[in-house]
Amino acid sequence: MENTTVEKKKIVLSCIQPTGTPTLGNYLGALKNWANMCDDYNCLYGVADLHSITVPTFRENPQQLKKNTLELYALLLAIGLDPEKNIIFVQSQVPTHAQLGWILNCYTQFGEASRMTQFKEKSQRLGENISVGLFDYPVLMAADILIYNADFVPIGADQKQHLELARNICDRFNAIYGNVLKAPDPFIGKAGAKITSLQDPTKKMSKSDDNPKSYISMLDEPNVIMKKIKSAVTDSEACVRYAEGKDGINNLMTIYSCCTGKSFEEIEKEFEGKGYGDFKTAVGEAVCAELAPIQARYKELIADKKYLEECMKKGAEMATRISQRTLDKVMKKVGFYQTK
Ligand code: ATP
Ligand code: MG
Repeated sequence: MENTTVEKKKIVLSCIQPTGTPTLGNYLGALKNWANMCDDYNCLYGVADLHSITVPTFRENPQQLKKNTLELYALLLAIGLDPEKNIIFVQSQVPTHAQLGWILNCYTQFGEASRMTQFKEKSQRLGENISVGLFDYPVLMAADILIYNADFVPIGADQKQHLELARNICDRFNAIYGNVLKAPDPFIGKAGAKITSLQDPTKKMSKSDDNPKSYISMLDEPNVIMKKIKSAVTDSEACVRYAEGKDGINNLMTIYSCCTGKSFEEIEKEFEGKGYGDFKTAVGEAVCAELAPIQARYKELIADKKYLEECMKKGAEMATRISQRTLDKVMKKVGFYQTK
């Protein structure tokens, strides 16, 4: 009886790259929703290490990639993901992703892949050192999602275009072979979908940003968090209100709202007649309070490598088993010769 209800739950899939400690943006835009969806859906969450070698920093620093992977895995458990209830895996330990990724390359148009704004932005930053992998990133991401027949993908707003591409690839594949793959829907939270850089609030906050003052890492100490928020770029109006052209304040209001549950209206009232100094202190304190229990749990988990590796192994085995079914079906439909 219990099994039937489990079967009926919708499938949720999302991944995060081990390109650094997740930021407050990653948390409020994606990870917090991952944790919230844990009970109501069949969730699969991955550490996307295959994606991380698309940029030179991690191609050239294997030890760092390895270290980041374990730390990110521990952090995923620390935010409340339960490896007993959900499948939490490391992408490179599940070979089916790359296998389906290759196949889907052949059902992706060069022109549509060329329109991806993340590629344009990241390749501009990298100058000469642009790999084909960086260009191909969204196709592997489509495979990550489609291999599990995911219904929903909790992501930040920056990944919306990639999700649309995944849907297009899915439709193109199904148009030839019938109803093989499931078209996924994005799950983008109402608040926090785009947390911006503290130093340039017109840009998104990124964990791979060269300037650590631009982001709050989920493992930053409280005094560092306070300092970074105090030095966040705002405006000269000195009035806490959500309005066009006030990107810095809008961002801090969004962060404050996500951490306290207060609406923008309530926040405006709370800080009526008060300056940015008071407001920034309150934002900093709210962020510290939100992250403190996660940081405490993280410290315990990272000290237990054996447990983390056991969870990883189990996660990879389950993810491989489930995704293999889709891969087998796809390979058969495509016409790859199968022996009995
Ligand atoms: P990188 O700079 O290496 O790409 P990133 O910070 O963009 O790092 P990802 O691993 O690419 O992190 O993304 C993980 C998840 O976090 C995705 O769902 C993404 O949409 C979400 N996300 C990333 N940045 C933000 C942000 N500033 N606000 C809200 N969500 C975000
Ligand atoms: Mg990113």
